[in-house]
Amino acid sequence: MNYISGSWSALSVTLRNFFRPITTQSRLDKPARLPEERAERYRASFALVHDEHGDTACIACKICENICPSSVITVVPGPKAESPNTGKKRAWLEDFTLDLQGCIYCELCVQVCPADAIVMRRVQEIPGYQREDLVLTMDRLYANETAKPHTWANASKLKEMQDPTRGLAPAAEATDASAAAPAAPAAPPAGAP
Ligand code: SF4
Ligand code: SF4
Repeated sequence: MNYISGSWSALSVTLRNFFRPITTQSRLDKPARLPEERAERYRASFALVHDEHGDTACIACKICENICPSSVITVVPGPKAESPNTGKKRAWLEDFTLDLQGCIYCELCVQVCPADAIVMRRVQEIPGYQREDLVLTMDRLYANETAKPHTWANASKLKEMQDPTRGLAPAAEATDASAAAPAAPAAPPAGAP
């Protein structure tokens, strides 16, 4: 008898929930948000970019590799050579990989780059079936440069945003400086020796 009453009790809970109004929303009821509609700080993947002269911007300094808390960046520097666009000798990248599997999207690699060479994208990578599919090679990272949208940030913009003097009025600084300056000596009275 205990078996029957227990089963009925469990079944009654199932039936009660089966006829209860739905309180969740199906993801399919709403179209997915397009990357362009995402917040400008939405961070989903990465790109390597070119500089204003048309050269690849990365100078293979390895700062991003060293700062990455997950150690997922590998930078291989190449030999120094002249730029075909500016004629100046500079460092070049031989290879660059970023393994998305361990990335925590902290943006530190973007923040420390001295050449504004690495940025983040608002578009996720296409899901893959192999672990290797989530390793961004140098070619994939440069292909992502044109596959926008990117987030709003690069290293220069992040540094500017975090500048502690940002927003201070220059006039206020000038006033403070003049107030701190010693007063000029008074002119001697007429006829004084
Ligand atoms: S976002 Fe953070 S964890 Fe990801 S690659 Fe850059 S530094 Fe490493
Ligand atoms: S992406 Fe930036 S920080 Fe990383 S190696 Fe290249 S220049 Fe250096």
